[in-house]
Amino acid sequence: MKIAKIDQFFPRPRLRLVKITTDNGLEGWGETTLEGKPKSTHAAVEELAEYLIGKDPLRIEHHWQHIYRSAFFRGGNVLMTALSGIDQALWDIAGKYHGVPVHQLLGGAVRDRIRVYAHWGINDLSEAGQAAARERLTWLQETGGYKAFKSGPNGKWRGHEPPAVIDAFVQRAYLMREWVGPDVELAFDFHGKMTPALAIEICHELKGMRPMFVEEPVPQENIDALKLVSDHVPFPIATGERLLTRWGFREICEKQAAAYLQPDISHTGGITELKKIANLAEIYYIHILPHSAIGAVAFSASLQVDAVVPNFLAQEQVDAGLGGPITGPIAPSGSGAAPRSAGILQTPWQVRDGHINLPTQPGLGFEINKKEAEQNLGVYGEELGGEYFYETDNSVADW
Ligand SMILES: [Mg+2]
Repeated sequence: MKIAKIDQFFPRPRLRLVKITTDNGLEGWGETTLEGKPKSTHAAVEELAEYLIGKDPLRIEHHWQHIYRSAFFRGGNVLMTALSGIDQALWDIAGKYHGVPVHQLLGGAVRDRIRVYAHWGINDLSEAGQAAARERLTWLQETGGYKAFKSGPNGKWRGHEPPAVIDAFVQRAYLMREWVGPDVELAFDFHGKMTPALAIEICHELKGMRPMFVEEPVPQENIDALKLVSDHVPFPIATGERLLTRWGFREICEKQAAAYLQPDISHTGGITELKKIANLAEIYYIHILPHSAIGAVAFSASLQVDAVVPNFLAQEQVDAGLGGPITGPIAPSGSGAAPRSAGILQTPWQVRDGHINLPTQPGLGFEINKKEAEQNLGVYGEELGGEYFYETDNSVADW
């Protein structure tokens, strides 16, 4: 069996897919979405295709090593996103070739079902804001039985903010706890936009409502700054959606700078590398909460790794109920992401009691809807930020 063809598709804003076809007609799918660098990633996949065409698709580790090491310069988010999508597609082919779900090729499942968490929060304390939040919470609980949710402080944060700004966020967090009660987990994503001092200050205000974790309290480049936050906060700190490969996570593990790691299967090196990162984290008693913020193909690939690593805590599911990895009636708005993956999978994942049953179909566990997936929108504007990411003094803000 040889790789015959590699195609790329752009079916939705911020959603890119790669399809690898073999000479005996097997098709493997992967996701290569990289915000801000869609053209570069597309070109990277084209360059890697020159190496892959004619090769045996089952030598996944060998191809990973070749792509990562042979060009002398290693890593970077463009190369790693291209490699991640290709790696997912090769595993999809391997599973289909052997007639088993990928998790069986990774050592077999260590659990019967996979816990997921949804995006939900009270974004706005106005009457209308609370009504919308209440409606979406009820919908998520009644249709999927979700027991873990994540939201964030949203907006732009300067180096410090007055009490009214901090209190508005903290007040929403305590109200959320009041609504869901003590049996539900609530987490907050700071999106890497705080200073260590401000993150610590806000986390101290939050500690009474017992968060599950705070995510990316500070930007990703400085592990000592992250450790400073972790050492001063009495609940778990998570990070990792912008970190690549085991080497990107090594120092965090060695310094115990976070309680949970959040590698993204479409950036960190695919299925191959996500499993290795989880195995690395295991020896430090660090759990993984795989990041999955865009599409259903990456989400499905993550589920295969979630099934086989013992130190897995929960899987992010960004568009729960909005026609994404799970599909159903359109969920009430109020929080949550756009339905980027609506219709991409023939049979979307179903969430029951806050969990997804172990995938059973060969490969990544889904059948693609080619009519929806094999499209090219050719629009790039939305992915490049725009004026929103400037402060009132016109200096650059983190979003
Ligand atoms: Mg995040």
